[in-house]
Amino acid sequence: MRQRIAVIGAGPAGLTFARVLHRHDHAVTVFERDAASDARPQGGTLDLHKGLGQLAMSKAGLLAEFQALSRPEGQAMRILDTDGTVLRDWPHDPDEDANPEIDRGQLRDLLLGPLDVQWGRGVTEVVPGTPDGVLVRFADGRQETFDLVVGADGAWSQVRPAVSSVTPHYTGVTAVETSIDDVDTRHPGLARLIGDGSAAVYGVNRGVVAQRNSGGHVKVYAQFRVPLDWHTNPDGQAGVDADIDTGSDAGPDPAGAEALRARVLALFDGWSAPVLDLLRHGTAFVGRPLYVLPVGHTWAHVRGVTLLGDAAHLMPPLGLGANLAMLEGAELAEAVAAASGPDDLDKVVRAFEEQMWERAGRWAKFTTAGLERLVSPDPAEAIALFDEVHAS
Ligand SMILES: Cc1cc2nc3c(=O)[nH]c(=O)nc-3n(C[C@H](O)[C@H](O)[C@H](O)COP(=O)(O)OP(=O)(O)OC[C@H]3O[C@@H](n4cnc5c(N)ncnc54)[C@H](O)[C@@H]3O)c2cc1C
Repeated sequence: MRQRIAVIGAGPAGLTFARVLHRHDHAVTVFERDAASDARPQGGTLDLHKGLGQLAMSKAGLLAEFQALSRPEGQAMRILDTDGTVLRDWPHDPDEDANPEIDRGQLRDLLLGPLDVQWGRGVTEVVPGTPDGVLVRFADGRQETFDLVVGADGAWSQVRPAVSSVTPHYTGVTAVETSIDDVDTRHPGLARLIGDGSAAVYGVNRGVVAQRNSGGHVKVYAQFRVPLDWHTNPDGQAGVDADIDTGSDAGPDPAGAEALRARVLALFDGWSAPVLDLLRHGTAFVGRPLYVLPVGHTWAHVRGVTLLGDAAHLMPPLGLGANLAMLEGAELAEAVAAASGPDDLDKVVRAFEEQMWERAGRWAKFTTAGLERLVSPDPAEAIALFDEVHAS
């Protein structure tokens, strides 16, 4: 069967879909809004779970390459009190390979491999049901038609309106991200505090998580419950424009980022020096209000269009989104590669959607409840959540 297939978005979902189709000798066109693979930093580290992201890598024929690059020691986790005292310490067990970490940039390069991505091709609209198939309109004014369009274009998907009118809503929690380079040589005290993997600190309605990436790079995330207009309207007063990423294309603003650091530090007033140093020594600051789609988001099936990953089921970032996105990409690709004609293609896409909705619904419920407990009025709830996860 040779159908015209397009995937929109070269994130974990879209690239895994394309890579598995490529492995099955099936042509697919990948359209990505970014101008090039290195147009923007890819962000922090991802842990790929054995039955999810690692299974997807295996379906893509990339498990050995993943294992060579990934960091099993990154599974180490500790929880600190706001004064820096270690409350829980789960060191890395050398026999444990359930969730090794990999930098997002490394993962993207692995998945890209031989794929021919059309960079700088942002999609603006998808129109199903035209006489020649599904019409895709691009920001550059061009348009093309396909038999199947897969929307893997993330939280603010431009494909989603073709199947669903639902849009993401704010969770009440904002994350601010910063980074520290060469932590082992420049900040050995912080390196010891973080350990081999991640360290987290929880207070009332707020927390700080520091995660090692490769090469001594550390990503630090401060999370807190605030109104959405917190960055422009703190305490009801006019504020400065911070570098807040709401899914728009706003560029970095160093002055805004400095103001954001000061504002974040004020929120953590009273926490001890070693913990606050994670924020004080951070370089660029970026704010990310956490948005989600409703738990159990589904849609009436539309022939020729489907969604994967965050576009289908954006959920709180508790370590599952990329894993689900990749497994969905791999599973849909296998089903599409095995389809015997246009009607069969439609049938397998329908069946895939049912399976995706069921699994994603379960994880969306879990991560939504998890965010409530991690950023909660009672910090003991966050620790209890980690105890439960480590016991299971
Ligand atoms: C701070 C943070 C930490 C996280 N940590 C983890 C973790 O440890 N483990 C985990 O599993 N998940 C994690 N997640 C969640 C994870 O990042 C997402 O679930 C995952 O990236 C979703 O993959 P995706 O391919 O569906 O979407 P995305 O990664 O968002 O990729 C979408 C792609 O589509 C492109 N695009 C967007 N719009 C268009 C358009 N109109 N036209 C063309 N291209 C377009 C984008 O440029 C992008 O390349 C985390 C999220 C955050 C915010």
